[in-house]
Amino acid sequence: MKVVLFGRDGKVGSVLGPRLREAGHDVTGVELGEDVDLSGHDAAVDFTAPTAVVGNVTRALDAGVPGVIGTTGVDGSDLAELDRLARERGLPCFVAPNFAIGAVLMMRFAEEAARFMPHAEVIELHHETKVDAPSGTAKATAARMGGEIPIHSVRLPGLIAHQEVILGADGQYLTIRHDTTSREAFVPGVLLALERLGGLPPGLTVGLDALL
Ligand code: NAP
Repeated sequence: MKVVLFGRDGKVGSVLGPRLREAGHDVTGVELGEDVDLSGHDAAVDFTAPTAVVGNVTRALDAGVPGVIGTTGVDGSDLAELDRLARERGLPCFVAPNFAIGAVLMMRFAEEAARFMPHAEVIELHHETKVDAPSGTAKATAARMGGEIPIHSVRLPGLIAHQEVILGADGQYLTIRHDTTSREAFVPGVLLALERLGGLPPGLTVGLDALL
């Protein structure tokens, strides 16, 4: 596929670009301030910043290019607007708060555990340059678990992306934990999203779960 990669030089983009090429995709990397002709591309992948992603994906959809969004911290009304635009253009747009399979399983297990242990809290830990808090994964986890789940955010150098879901009941507690040790963890999920993009309906599809 001909893929535009917004955020080429970022922490995720610099790992993802070479791996997309290895997988046979023709990748046009784009960084802040660069202007590229988007027409003729099959997908636009965005790992940038909450302030940049809506503009990037809107330009892509306007050029007839479906989107794959990894950027987190986008508010609900902006996502609703992208959904509206994608439907209007008849294009799919896939968004996932976490492209790592382990994180998707963590969310699934947490949802299941919350049915039996409703008292729970989430601790999410990320590198100190992450701009949004709580993380998109933590918010998605809490939403899936239902109820009011407190989320604690930790930002420290040396971390990548980690999350612990702790559920408590009388005389016991259960911890479900996922650790991202390298940004390679996000590559298979993005490749899967690209592979399945053409078969998705117009508008937003949310979460890797929808593709598994
Ligand atoms: P990062 O290291 O800050 O990289 C973002 C890159 O995007 C930077 O190189 C930045 O350039 C560039 N950029 C900013 N605005 C742009 C624009 N308008 N067009 C093109 N490029 C632009 O961040 P990261 O750690 O790679 O993460 C990027 C996003 O992905 C964050 O929102 C993060 O939370 C999210 N993320 C999601 C997942 C997932 O699985 N869904 C996994 C990891 C990260 P400058 O440095 O010049 O600003």
